[in-house]
Amino acid sequence: MKKVVIRECPDYTPDHVKTTLKESLEALGGLEKWIKPGDLVFLKVNLLTGKEPKEAVTTHPQLVKALTELLMELGALVILGDSPAGPFLQGRMRKIYQLTGMTTVAKETGASLNWNLESDPVYFSAGYRLKDFHVMKAIKEADHIINVSKMKTHSMTMMTGAVKNMFGIMPGLKKAELHFRFTDPIEFGHAMVDICEYASPVISIMDGIEAMEGAGPSAGDVVKNGMILVSEDPYSLDIVASEHMGIKPDSVPTLKAARQRNLCQSLEKVTLDTSLGEGIKKSFKLPDTREPDFLEKYGRWPVVGSIFKQISRKHLRPKPVVNPKKCTKCKECYTICPAEAIDMLEKVPGFRYDKCIRCYCCQEVCPEKAIWIYRPKILKWFGGTK
Ligand code: SF4
Ligand code: SF4
Repeated sequence: MKKVVIRECPDYTPDHVKTTLKESLEALGGLEKWIKPGDLVFLKVNLLTGKEPKEAVTTHPQLVKALTELLMELGALVILGDSPAGPFLQGRMRKIYQLTGMTTVAKETGASLNWNLESDPVYFSAGYRLKDFHVMKAIKEADHIINVSKMKTHSMTMMTGAVKNMFGIMPGLKKAELHFRFTDPIEFGHAMVDICEYASPVISIMDGIEAMEGAGPSAGDVVKNGMILVSEDPYSLDIVASEHMGIKPDSVPTLKAARQRNLCQSLEKVTLDTSLGEGIKKSFKLPDTREPDFLEKYGRWPVVGSIFKQISRKHLRPKPVVNPKKCTKCKECYTICPAEAIDMLEKVPGFRYDKCIRCYCCQEVCPEKAIWIYRPKILKWFGGTK
């Protein structure tokens, strides 16, 4: 059975974070189990976009700092990085490192920020859907990867945590291409699992001290959640996190794909080492992107289910909509849209819903939270995947 450690940590006070993280890692055998003096360790943090830590979009710098210090006390060399949504460019990275607090972490600890924006092709023979793809060069040069994710809901994949965090080793707009290649969520989930398996982080950590609910991963609301989670197994970590958030693991494409590949099972098959007395379950607000699943609901009558499904795909699918009052016409959504379903009209972006693949990358990158998801009210009665 895979083990997941959960420890309460009420806030980002430096001492709390470092002590709690150290205790959590010791419950798994301590960092020295994986790291030797002189090892180059890449901390794959979540730097989705340039947001301040208080917005809970990115891994909090205090957690990154605590981990960096623990690694350096063991004599390791630390490099911090991610390839955020959108183009992978020097100026953009400078701004993102600055806003997310990573520049300060590097200054205060002596860790390096990753400025190597080159990518390398890899061949991963064990991949189910992805065998040939590109990763950041810096990832290949490191001795170990540590996965430092953030607990958030996610418009396309319901939640993002440890497994989805590894998607960021793929550079820049190559990620958007992947959305276009795998429009079916489970197929996309398999691609994420391929990337995670390739990266094989030695340990996965989740910043659940302040999490995000609702329109995640960037436009949701902050939840004071008070916990750090760690595990050697990113899938078990995500199962525990999804159950905690009130999301069925099978509605998370990465977990469904991992389950199909026998990489994980269910919460009952995870050994939980938790300091939370009253159980781990909470209920997060979910994204409005849940699609009606008539086949699941009316599975006993497959013909009726599939007719309903066809109707719903045409008329009832949630869709991105822009709020013209908030839009600054920055074109970030237009640049990232993998389906070329956005036209920059004179005033605001216009969506071509017949082309839209519902990846919600546009909402993810919008710096003004100007894109929201319209979900027909009728879906309240007909349900939706959760
Ligand atoms: S990303 Fe947001 S602010 Fe920028 S053009 Fe699109 S909707 Fe407007
Ligand atoms: S319009 Fe938005 S949701 Fe639709 S394909 Fe483009 S980025 Fe994805």
